[in-house]
Amino acid sequence: MNRPSTALTQPVPRPALLSELHALLARGILIDRAGAPLGATCPCGGLVDGYTCPLSLDCPGCKAPAGRRCRRPSGHEAAELHVPRLRAAGALDKVRERDGDPTLPAPWPDPDPSAPNPSEDRTP
Ligand SMILES: [Zn+2]
Ligand SMILES: [Zn+2]
Repeated sequence: MNRPSTALTQPVPRPALLSELHALLARGILIDRAGAPLGATCPCGGLVDGYTCPLSLDCPGCKAPAGRRCRRPSGHEAAELHVPRLRAAGALDKVRERDGDPTLPAPWPDPDPSAPNPSEDRTP
């Protein structure tokens, strides 16, 4: 075990917009939990954000192989990836989280406003 004693956080506050997040990634400002910059170009053409890229997996739905976009039953490329593929990537990320994978993105310095916060005492 050689985890850093102080957990790293992103050097900037959580952006409100996806486009801002993308700009931060593209500029190499965001980091993973080991402090390495994120934002390299993913083989899918997107930017590496520290989470598992659904396109790096085979699709359990349409059986599109890793690296290929999902296909409609007609054979045309689907505009969106199939939900089972996105779920598979999410499930992998949960395992990485459990195993303390340092290549996951570092947390934001501010708490997630959409996450429930049971520890917060809201009694007046
Ligand atoms: Zn990708
Ligand atoms: Zn698919």
